[in-house]
Amino acid sequence: MHDPVDIRRRIDRVVARVGRRDDYGQLLVDDFVAQRVEDIEDPEAWRAEIRRQARVDKIKIRTGNEDGLVWALRARRRSPETRALTDGYHALLSRTVPLAAERRHEAVLEIRDGDEVVCSCERCSAVGYASARDDVVGGSLFEDECPNEEPPKLTPLVMLHVPPSRRPTA
Ligand SMILES: [Zn+2]
Repeated sequence: MHDPVDIRRRIDRVVARVGRRDDYGQLLVDDFVAQRVEDIEDPEAWRAEIRRQARVDKIKIRTGNEDGLVWALRARRRSPETRALTDGYHALLSRTVPLAAERRHEAVLEIRDGDEVVCSCERCSAVGYASARDDVVGGSLFEDECPNEEPPKLTPLVMLHVPPSRRPTA
């Protein structure tokens, strides 16, 4: 795995650059955003607010509420550049998120910017960083076991990037 000091430096850099995006901002970047229903006050209000902002921007989206997750998806034709970036990002997450799931973390996406991602665990302080371009993956999220004993809850990130056969069970 990668030098922890360099990982820390990379995380600080991307946090400084991007900070926290709100859910609609994340939808604009990723074409997809999801939250666990239990983490938000009112799932229907969440969907209504995303739809309202999409109407203002004249963006076509779909939203849903199923399996304890509320989500929004943007339907659009993407340019080859956008598609290459998104494909690289998905490949990166499909390679790294299973590492976090196997270590029983409840992995969530904190930041995505270009080819870089910062993920964290919802129930411990573990953080992970990955860059597709630099082929760098590191951080406690991908290397250390989650200290919580209960089986991890399903998160949107794990739902999207970890096949059911690789998810930890009770
Ligand atoms: Zn954890």
